[in-house]
Amino acid sequence: MAVNGASTAHEPPGTLHVRLLTPSGTLYEGAASAVAAVAEGGALEILSDHGDLMTPLEIAVLKVSPPGGEPVTFAVHGGFLEVKPDEVRVLADAAESGGDIDIERARAASERARRRIADASTGGEEVNVDRAENARKRALLRLGVTGRG
Ligand code: ATP
Repeated sequence: MAVNGASTAHEPPGTLHVRLLTPSGTLYEGAASAVAAVAEGGALEILSDHGDLMTPLEIAVLKVSPPGGEPVTFAVHGGFLEVKPDEVRVLADAAESGGDIDIERARAASERARRRIADASTGGEEVNVDRAENARKRALLRLGVTGRG
């Protein structure tokens, strides 16, 4: 489900134009007064006077605050954040809004990953631990964004 804030590509002064893109299309496009993201180098808050930036993103929440409105949160599973004057673009490897998240699927993924990580620590079947840890991170983020973690 695409979430759309009312917006054009040309925002009033002091306002950011935000686009969140996934491999399947635009998940969000709208105006914002602030965007909070977690880059590999740490947490960032983007306001309208932010300088140009291009940085890889963590598996983490993206929070978009529309001017005068309630913040909207998304689960973003890595990708890139690009900031240009008054423009923020997130090119996500995968992303979902809370309403798009299948809670049972995320719980099952979390449990599967937990079991793989436990198997690895007891020297059981061949496990790619980094892969399992990332899968668990994605699942826990999804549950966190739905408030059902
Ligand atoms: P799973 O093991 O359940 O597939 P995953 O973390 O490996 O989870 P991804 O590779 O991150 O899945 O995502 C593949 C696609 O499935 C993406 O489009 C992602 O948005 C979607 N997706 C994954 N898990 C969920 C979920 N719990 N609810 C809704 N969409 C999901």
